[in-house]
Amino acid sequence: MSVGIAYQLEQSFSLFADVAIPVPLRKTFSYGIPQSFGPIEPGMRVQVRFGTRVLLGCVVSITHELPVLPDKAQIQPLLRIVDDEPALTKGQLKLARWISDYYLAYPGIVYRSFLPPETPLGISAIYERDMSKDWSNLRARSLARKIWDVLDRPRTARNIAKALGKKSVAGTLRSLLSEGFVRQKESENRDSVRKIRTAIITENGRTALEKAKLHPTSVRILTLLSIASVAVPLSTIRHELNIGSSTFLRLSKRGFIQLAYQTVLRSPWARLKSAAKKDLNLTDVQKNVLHVINRAIVLRKFHVAVIHGVTGSGKTEVYLRAAKTVLEQGRTVLILVPEIALTPHLARLLYGRFSGRVAILHSALGSGERQDEWWRIRRGQAQVVVGARAAVLAPLENLGLVVVDEEHEASYKQEESPRYNARDVAILRAKHEGAVVLLGSATPSIESYAHAENGHYELLELPDRVEKRPLAAVELVDMKTVAHEEGPETIFSRPLREAIERCFSANEQVIVLLNRRGFAGQLLCRACGMTLTCTECSVSLTLHRGGSLAVCHYCGLGRPTPKTCDVCNDEYLHTRGFGTERIESLAKEMFPENRIARMDRDTMRKKGSYEALLNRFSTQKIDMLVGTQMIAKGHDFPALTLVGVLAADIGLGAPDFRAAERTFQLLTQVAGRAGRGDLLGKVFIQTYTPEHYSLRFAREQDFVGFYEEERRFRRVLSYPPVTQLINILFEAKGMAEAMHNARRVASFLRDARLDDVDVLGPAFAVRAKVSGRYRCQILVKLPRYQRTKVRGYLLGVLDDSDLSRTMLVDVDPQSLS
Ligand code: ADP
Ligand code: ZN
Repeated sequence: MSVGIAYQLEQSFSLFADVAIPVPLRKTFSYGIPQSFGPIEPGMRVQVRFGTRVLLGCVVSITHELPVLPDKAQIQPLLRIVDDEPALTKGQLKLARWISDYYLAYPGIVYRSFLPPETPLGISAIYERDMSKDWSNLRARSLARKIWDVLDRPRTARNIAKALGKKSVAGTLRSLLSEGFVRQKESENRDSVRKIRTAIITENGRTALEKAKLHPTSVRILTLLSIASVAVPLSTIRHELNIGSSTFLRLSKRGFIQLAYQTVLRSPWARLKSAAKKDLNLTDVQKNVLHVINRAIVLRKFHVAVIHGVTGSGKTEVYLRAAKTVLEQGRTVLILVPEIALTPHLARLLYGRFSGRVAILHSALGSGERQDEWWRIRRGQAQVVVGARAAVLAPLENLGLVVVDEEHEASYKQEESPRYNARDVAILRAKHEGAVVLLGSATPSIESYAHAENGHYELLELPDRVEKRPLAAVELVDMKTVAHEEGPETIFSRPLREAIERCFSANEQVIVLLNRRGFAGQLLCRACGMTLTCTECSVSLTLHRGGSLAVCHYCGLGRPTPKTCDVCNDEYLHTRGFGTERIESLAKEMFPENRIARMDRDTMRKKGSYEALLNRFSTQKIDMLVGTQMIAKGHDFPALTLVGVLAADIGLGAPDFRAAERTFQLLTQVAGRAGRGDLLGKVFIQTYTPEHYSLRFAREQDFVGFYEEERRFRRVLSYPPVTQLINILFEAKGMAEAMHNARRVASFLRDARLDDVDVLGPAFAVRAKVSGRYRCQILVKLPRYQRTKVRGYLLGVLDDSDLSRTMLVDVDPQSLS
């Protein structure tokens, strides 16, 4: 019998959809398309049953062929098509396929990142009372009775639990359901839109206004509406006339006005005051660079250019002009910045030039704003998109230009699934669509510069600051000498202290960079030598709040700093190292007359605090800003003339082959903040290793010199760009299990005996334990020509679903921890 039904079901489909579903599995799934459904295309969102859940997926392709299913499985029908038109563009579909392939990512999770924001992932069931049941049977004060009581209106399961102050009510709800007290219906979760109530005056209303004797309030409302003669939001009327809501209802009942809902766009633009509209007069160098770019744009062919321009060389103006050329061609522009915090500045400039054609896309917008901006782009109403990492997935069509500003930044890499690098995705997207890519930076990544050197990319240089403003002079301060002369505990060396005093007395501003937050670095026991570490993660704790709180920077757990050693109970605990919190309080002691503030992740938690603090600094309400790398990038501060860097070698100790590159970039970046106005800048870098090449070249602000040295090092040790890296992390409850899995995969890859492919490890991950889970890793180094083969082997491993669940594959990792 049941076989017959299954057979019939399958027969009833003549079309099948391949659907990407957001689950951590490396495949897509087939569903039958019921004949009653309208036309269906790839890129449309659909609801499907997946196991016991109903989920939202994306149609990837459509076929007439009956899919091959595993034993006994039956083909299921699609439940519903969400879209009338495909939500995803053809370009997005192609890019999604590439990302899943290249990064060995779960297709469903990749496709989900392309969908409109806040897309409901499934449909949530809504529960309501079945009023035909005699509820007095429900025992008083039982959970079942309480659920019945809160169901005075339909609610979701989560909402019921919340109303009752419980974690979950699933069990009881299920029995109520099976006994028939409660009914379940599925709610249609569509994309949300914001609707406001409006009123418009009717003919009757106009007549009444002339003839009838009306209440004065009614007269005022009708007069206002008659003057407006379009629909006016009720909130506006209320605000204008200072009246309550009941009058509207009365007028509507009498047929004098018509009430309606109107959809309005939610927009981030109201918060952004626009900047100057006019183009600047380009310098000769800018002109030359723009000329080359425009030539490439006109060809409408894929082309990548690295714009290597020192800080303050006017790269932004070049981006704006190139964007203008592309818009004039009727094509679209994508501009990526490394951090959300940097979007408002650029968005304002763009808005000044291109007004309503600009859209912002990033995760810090309100969810409604995000949705509306997304759809504005999808519908072609906005042709310029600015945003952080994820904006690279924006639904732009007919792309002509992609700008990746500060292309070297590690923040372009998404450190959660799907683990893509937005810079590289941008380049591939441009290749698909025949667009021009501009990779801008004062310190290009070694990878990009190498491509420029060997001719794959074009190299464009802006070697000087605008108006020939000189770069700041950089001085290295050897802390070994300072320790000898001024004592080993010295934090601010004499040269730096004196420079700060001079700066303050001239009414100028200072930035002090220390790339470690917190109060002290570590807590050590003098008796047994142990360092206080997090019990969940294998890292030492950092002291915060004046040393009273010990916090783990990986999992975020904190505890009051113990008075005695965890191990030997000795009382001789002492601190080592220092963080921004300590520097802030030290600076306040040293310069009690001056206004000093701190900028790091601890002080910048609140929304808008970053902008507010930068604002106070640029209007000189603050004299000194102490902070982590956060303060290194961003805006022009005309009165900022001095930059001090403490413990510049912190990052050099990191177990990462990019440690020197990161250090050089950070120092160049922060040095570039000083002296951008008319005043000359000065930089002091305190270090224990002044002879290290990243510091020497940072002092000279010599990118090319650094690049050549670093390139040699990469060649000798076969690191990117000489090879490609794939890092595979294994996580498990126990170390033995993690190690066992890692060994299996490592020997599988080694047994393949691929030429020039190195499999390193297994080794403990840099963070060998995080949030209670143990971690090992293997690192695969491969030449580009072996990429397809290695991918094939890894796909084989990932097909083993038990193993693949504990594995985390990171292609082109930015950090090896
Ligand atoms: P970068 O991004 O290369 O660090 P910016 O684009 O921020 O540099 O430019 C630095 C400063 O120079 C900005 O204040 C900008 O307004 C100004 N600027 C850029 N181009 C010109 C120009 N052609 N004439 C005058 N000022 C310019
Ligand atoms: Zn921890």
